Amino acid sequence: MIETMAPPRREIYRPTPWWNQMPAAALPTPQAPAAHRPPAATPATLTAAAAKTRALAVTDGLLDQMQRIEPGLSGPLYVVFGQLRKQNMAGQYFPGLAATFEADARAAGLWHGRGHGVLLDEDQYQIDFSDAAAAGLTAQQANAYATLACSGKVIHEFCHALASGFSGTEDPLGNSEFDPREVRSVVFNDSPDKLRAATAYDAALPPFQKHDAAFLRAVIHLTARMMPTTKGLMLDHVVHCEKFGLSPIGQYALGLAKELPIRAPIARLIASPAPAAFRNLWKDDVAKWYASLTNPTDLQIEAGAKALRSCP
Ligand SMILES: [Zn+2]
Repeated sequence: MIETMAPPRREIYRPTPWWNQMPAAALPTPQAPAAHRPPAATPATLTAAAAKTRALAVTDGLLDQMQRIEPGLSGPLYVVFGQLRKQNMAGQYFPGLAATFEADARAAGLWHGRGHGVLLDEDQYQIDFSDAAAAGLTAQQANAYATLACSGKVIHEFCHALASGFSGTEDPLGNSEFDPREVRSVVFNDSPDKLRAATAYDAALPPFQKHDAAFLRAVIHLTARMMPTTKGLMLDHVVHCEKFGLSPIGQYALGLAKELPIRAPIARLIASPAPAAFRNLWKDDVAKWYASLTNPTDLQIEAGAKALRSCP
């Protein structure tokens, strides 16, 4: 069964924004909970059902905010919760994803037409909470930590939507690299190997292949626009560049400083020439990967060229 699909302006469930309940001093650092903190005698717990309610509340609030601040996300937005951990994923986006779940959303009375959709793992909030609690954070702090982690994943996946060039309303089958029936069955867990095979990382290609300059630019702009209303949100919650062999996201944000005050639609911004500082950082990172290859194949040369094209 579909867990939920959140349309914009969701009528049936409208949570109080979590930041109204959270004193600023209780907010954790953006990194994983401090390891030196002595664990509490009894770690705080959160039931799976309560964790899902929290994840829904966080997601709902973010969709509303994103739609208010970014025209590229003004159509219907959907979040599908499924079992992604078996694929070793916390989230996923691809063009046409929302349409893959159209029948389910219609059956649940939650279909508002074509738009962008993202997949999130349904257990991730509880896992993040438990990790924080095990490291000694109080229940309130662990909630704040899991909330920021969840927010980061939602923003991350929708930045893939902004960077993809897909409007959300085109023919989904013409744009998706996945067979929608397979994706659907994977998310609802009857063929766990298929999506993993389809999304398996090709070790020959650059580790930043799906997180290129256009994506990073979208992340920096959208996160900066979300920060004033999402207390404690930092770029590190949204993307961890080092994982992809890139310079830290903070350095990229500095490189983009001149462009940040421009409040144009993000899709338009990322198609325009980037500030030199940002472009040079990206070129250096791509060059570093390229220099690490002993005998670049045609595929790798093309991947490098494609990476450079992602930063006009
Ligand atoms: Zn990603």
